[in-house]
Amino acid sequence: MKAIVDQDICIGCTICTQVCPEVFMMEGDKAKAYTNPVPEALEATAMSAANQCPVNAIMIEK
Ligand code: SF4
Repeated sequence: MKAIVDQDICIGCTICTQVCPEVFMMEGDKAKAYTNPVPEALEATAMSAANQCPVNAIMIEK
């Protein structure tokens, strides 16, 4: 599974980096996914982060 943050949509709220810091980090005022592919053990947490993004900026590719 791969996680991608759409930089044009992200509003920099930092929720994803708090929910799943193993996969998401802030870079300036935007988040980025820095662990790709997402390890299987982190998939559920990364999905949860994507679901909690208030603007649906995180895309998950299976
Ligand atoms: S939760 Fe969404 S809007 Fe907030 S920092 Fe992460 S990608 Fe950006």
